[in-house]
Amino acid sequence: MSDAVRVAVRVRPFNQREKDRKANVIIEMPENNPGMVRITNPKETNVPPKDFKFDFAYWSHDNSRKNHGQQDLFDDLGTDILTQAFNGYNTTIFAYGQTGSGKSYSIMGYGEDKGIIPLAVRDLFVRLDKLRAKPIDEEGNEMTYTVEVAYLEIYNEIVRDLFNPANNKQGGLKIREDVKKGIYVENLSRLQVSSADEIERLIDTGAKNRTVAATAMNATSSRSHSVFTIYFKQTKLNKGTLQASDIESKINLVDLAGSERAASTGALSAGADSSTFKEGCAINKSLSALGNVISALADKAKNPKAKMVVPYRDSSLTRLLQESLGGNSKTAMVAALSPADINYEETLSTLRYADRAKKIKNSAKKNES
Ligand code: ADP
Ligand code: MG
Repeated sequence: MSDAVRVAVRVRPFNQREKDRKANVIIEMPENNPGMVRITNPKETNVPPKDFKFDFAYWSHDNSRKNHGQQDLFDDLGTDILTQAFNGYNTTIFAYGQTGSGKSYSIMGYGEDKGIIPLAVRDLFVRLDKLRAKPIDEEGNEMTYTVEVAYLEIYNEIVRDLFNPANNKQGGLKIREDVKKGIYVENLSRLQVSSADEIERLIDTGAKNRTVAATAMNATSSRSHSVFTIYFKQTKLNKGTLQASDIESKINLVDLAGSERAASTGALSAGADSSTFKEGCAINKSLSALGNVISALADKAKNPKAKMVVPYRDSSLTRLLQESLGGNSKTAMVAALSPADINYEETLSTLRYADRAKKIKNSAKKNES
């Protein structure tokens, strides 16, 4: 089964810095053309604006028109991903964009303004309650369900367990591959959970274990990738043979490092949210590898017969997400944007990245045991 990556573009409101600088809006989303995003180069007003088309495009810049909130984003991307996971597929949502563009807001949210992860776990347990109310399937087999979660970060290519920092020996956790398990992180804690509240408490603890000197929170979160994984297992006890068989689906929810670190040229022209962190802009190996993988997959989709090696092995992130990109997975991407002219270069580069991701075709197979 072939399935394109679904892409949602999300524009956040002006931040204080943009307001202070009296920034202008350079993004338009024509209301009669849903999914269309138009960007104008603030310096060269005589060149025509560039148009892009995505599955979804959300505006939250001002209240003069329909703004799409957290629940709208979840309804469009999250519910489908959960349904697919219940159908036995691996699924992934990742957020891409420059630092301060709204990636963490979209994936995790802040406080009561819940993002995709907390909304997904809530929805997951609502669905589970319904399933558990009828534990016997049409053929009379008994069904049981297990939910486990894991939370990791990739910082300087090192994979760290956020639920159990004692696991993070020097060099971090190792990514392994196995015929049965697929790609997995050796010794990563998987915690069995029974409610959404329990998961939210775990996440709060996990977030505190990120590579942070508290003072450098922003700089650090802009450099590390976090991956929250929900493992959803459906076990069938065959009524005749009394044999148990499992189907396990993985739901990966990924908050990427700031895209201004994707390439050295990008880093130099980042125009990102704080002039101080520009100096600290090192190329992020995982992020540039992800860009290369996306380009290779987009080329491959255009030209399926051409032989080409997709460079998954070039970074920790791309190895980990291998099955989520062009592999056995249903994938969605949130491209987070600033509306302001001062971020033109980064915003255009995010739109181009999203445009390439849209062209990837995954070939998802149902997980069977
Ligand atoms: P990133 O993770 O990309 O660095 P954040 O998600 O932390 O950026 O967002 C930066 C700031 O912008 C936060 O204060 C966040 O609450 C706000 N923000 C981001 N996206 C939106 C949005 N769609 N609507 C309202 N506020 C937003
Ligand atoms: Mg963030």
